[in-house]
Amino acid sequence: MTARAYDVIVIGGGIVGAACAVECAAAKLSVAIIEARMIGGGATAAGMGHLVVMDDSEAQFALTRYSQVLWSELQDELPQTVEYDACGTIWVAADDEEMAEVRRKQRYYSDCGVAVEVLDERSLAEAEPNLRPGLAGGLRVAGDSVIYPPCAAQFFVERAVERGAALFVGQPVAAVTREGVRLRDGSSLAGGLVVNATGSWSPELTPGLNVKKRKGHLVITDRYPRFLRHQLVELGYLKSAHSVTADSVAFNIQPRRTGQLLIGSSRQYGVENGGVESSVVTRMLARAIEYLPSLGKLSALRAWTGFRAATVDKLPLIGPSVEDERVFLATGHEGLGITTSLGTAKLLVDQIVKREPAISLEPYLPARVS
Ligand SMILES: Cc1cc2nc3c(=O)[nH]c(=O)nc-3n(C[C@H](O)[C@H](O)[C@H](O)COP(=O)(O)OP(=O)(O)OC[C@H]3O[C@@H](n4cnc5c(N)ncnc54)[C@H](O)[C@@H]3O)c2cc1C
Repeated sequence: MTARAYDVIVIGGGIVGAACAVECAAAKLSVAIIEARMIGGGATAAGMGHLVVMDDSEAQFALTRYSQVLWSELQDELPQTVEYDACGTIWVAADDEEMAEVRRKQRYYSDCGVAVEVLDERSLAEAEPNLRPGLAGGLRVAGDSVIYPPCAAQFFVERAVERGAALFVGQPVAAVTREGVRLRDGSSLAGGLVVNATGSWSPELTPGLNVKKRKGHLVITDRYPRFLRHQLVELGYLKSAHSVTADSVAFNIQPRRTGQLLIGSSRQYGVENGGVESSVVTRMLARAIEYLPSLGKLSALRAWTGFRAATVDKLPLIGPSVEDERVFLATGHEGLGITTSLGTAKLLVDQIVKREPAISLEPYLPARVS
């Protein structure tokens, strides 16, 4: 047993654990961060880094919107390495049915105070000249942005350490104990509360937790500056992201600060193997080329995969676990954990120090799915 006992032990140095650690330190809690491998090396390194407001449910909208405001407040403090780029999103509508969805989304976002702009066929073509002609239009959400997630996680960890956090890297936690945690090397750390922020690994430390892996592929191209101006997402993405059983691909592409294009994305359930599957990559690229025909002439450099941590209702778990109220969960962020890391950290620490939260906690409490 070490001499020191922490108020909070955060397990997992992905973007969620890192953001939670900074928020704990800012609330004057003594905190330890324990990461098994490397900071930001899990799903955080695999993800796209799109900071996006989404409205699959009111709760999802509330958390993504809250988080996006927190990101924009933080933008001037982020180092260059985080590559914060306020490029905005265009949700691309292929036909009249999808234009109806554009208008529904426009009303919802506007009513909730998010600035959006409906684009017709011509203004969409002006906004993104490389899109194929004949698309119906789109919805521009100017407040969305893009970051490079592993460097954001690194920045949060460094900030937490500046504020007094202890950092243990390369030290897998073997088990959560009554006193804190036991590391795989046999040593222990004592803590009042333990935060399980290990993403798709979280059921290993909290047995019975209903968090499943959802595999995703991404492809990155060589540098083609100014090929795109916005993150583009097909409206059909919503249909594919909703499915909880079928494998799916949807057109989703992002201009990186480097000039590279990051092309997504796929969703697969029940796949444990993290290898790149050429059949999935082929489907994903074919879908992207349907929208951006000239993409077919560009060079792809690399493809990779990652696992999203998915819950049954597609909302994260933020708060005390049902089995042990000293173990807080900050996991299950599926495809939105980069965006919602900051909101998650606030809501987690609100519960720990009993502050009034800015948005309702209820939809994210682990007890809802027990
Ligand atoms: C293809 C893809 C695209 C995505 N695109 C986006 C996007 O555009 N926007 C968005 O908002 N989100 C996106 N996401 C989702 C986002 O990447 C995740 O929700 C987010 O990274 C989750 O962060 P995390 O910190 O919870 O998990 P992770 O980043 O996986 O971190 C968990 C950490 O816990 C550590 N760990 C595990 N077990 C232990 C242990 N026993 N002891 C100590 N440490 C341990 C791991 O090593 C890891 O570093 C995407 C995900 C994928 C796969």
